[in-house]
Amino acid sequence: MVALKSVEAARAVSADGIGLSAPGPRKGYGHGGSQRRFESIEARGSRLRLADTHPALVEGRTIMPARVFEPHQVPRLLISGVNSRKIGRVVTKGRWRGFPIFTLTLEERATCPRTCTEWATCYGANMPFARRIAHGPELERVLWKELAEKQAAHPRGFVVRLHILGDFYSTDYIELWENALDAFPALNVFGYTARQHGTAEGDAIAAVVQRLPDRFCIRFSGVADPEGGSVVIERGEDTAHIVCPAQTGGTDCCATCGLCWQSRRTIAFWRH
Ligand code: SF4
Repeated sequence: MVALKSVEAARAVSADGIGLSAPGPRKGYGHGGSQRRFESIEARGSRLRLADTHPALVEGRTIMPARVFEPHQVPRLLISGVNSRKIGRVVTKGRWRGFPIFTLTLEERATCPRTCTEWATCYGANMPFARRIAHGPELERVLWKELAEKQAAHPRGFVVRLHILGDFYSTDYIELWENALDAFPALNVFGYTARQHGTAEGDAIAAVVQRLPDRFCIRFSGVADPEGGSVVIERGEDTAHIVCPAQTGGTDCCATCGLCWQSRRTIAFWRH
């Protein structure tokens, strides 16, 4: 295992440049506030790089198989963003203002393409407490039921952040999300995928983004185009992209930011 190097702070492009209001005071930052249960959201520690021969890489799975649960083993699949230090509980700005945020966590690598640039350095290795939900028909059945319940509970709107770990694992699973967006008008989605354009899954995701750009805000990881991508950079690395303000201290968390759904511009994340 090799610790990856962190260097000085990166030059951040201001959120003002895309028409969002200037970041407010860092409310809750450092003590969690009402948006998060957790303390500092600074990128912490060094990410692990697994050897190419590590069984998790060879077999395509998490290094923490004991943290993978069948859907019936957990109380719910969709978890409030308040439990995630970078997400937050309720959106405070933009067109999704007032909408509660929920997250879904799948098994890293088992649901991801081997082409992912972070295949050997996935931050799942730094998340020993995350509950990964095993993917498959049971996940899809329970997920649909929970989305229907969220639609009933939050008819004005709610947000699902895909995926804290893991990825869109099949075209059928992508179709489930497209069908859900049609069936549940209150549903909005944001997140990132390592699926690539030109693959069946990547093209299916892109088609949903194109059809529902204001409700299915998925960025393609590793794509450094001006729009539609997300890239990982080292701290201090110069970039033409907007650096995630939750990492630079410009905002508290996703709930108080909104860039990922208010803008199409590619977002840069500091490696952590
Ligand atoms: S840019 Fe904003 S919305 Fe996107 S991940 Fe960072 S804090 Fe969350």
